[in-house]
Amino acid sequence: MEDSIQPIKHDAYPYQFNALACEACGGHCCTGESGYIWVKYPEIESIAKFLELSIEDFAIMYLKKVKHRYSLIERYREDKEDYACIFFDDTMSRCSIYSVRPLQCRSFPFWEQFKGDKDEVKKECPGIV
Ligand code: SF4
Ligand code: SF4
Repeated sequence: MEDSIQPIKHDAYPYQFNALACEACGGHCCTGESGYIWVKYPEIESIAKFLELSIEDFAIMYLKKVKHRYSLIERYREDKEDYACIFFDDTMSRCSIYSVRPLQCRSFPFWEQFKGDKDEVKKECPGIV
């Protein structure tokens, strides 16, 4: 049944994405080198609500300010010597706030920076076909 799921296409992009790859991948897009996971105010509100936290408590626990923007924080993983998004669940190898994950996460791997570079996005995501 699952094999009948079609890869996701996007007209402007020279590749497709097979979401079935996520299960075996182990969250490559949520871990690795340190980076930013940008969140806008409505996303902050949604995640805080999902976690049953006030915006203030959520911000103290999970956000960092980078100039005029906000990013989710990361945590260093000593065993792997890399970083993971604070909401990446190592045990389950998946996002613990999946239904309210930020647009940056929802739109991956269809990011502007990868539009002309299938080879580059393939290095980041094993679901690229
Ligand atoms: S890197 Fe690609 S295959 Fe892996 S979890 Fe992220 S979107 Fe899924
Ligand atoms: S919010 Fe979820 S999908 Fe986005 S980087 Fe963090 S763990 Fe991954």
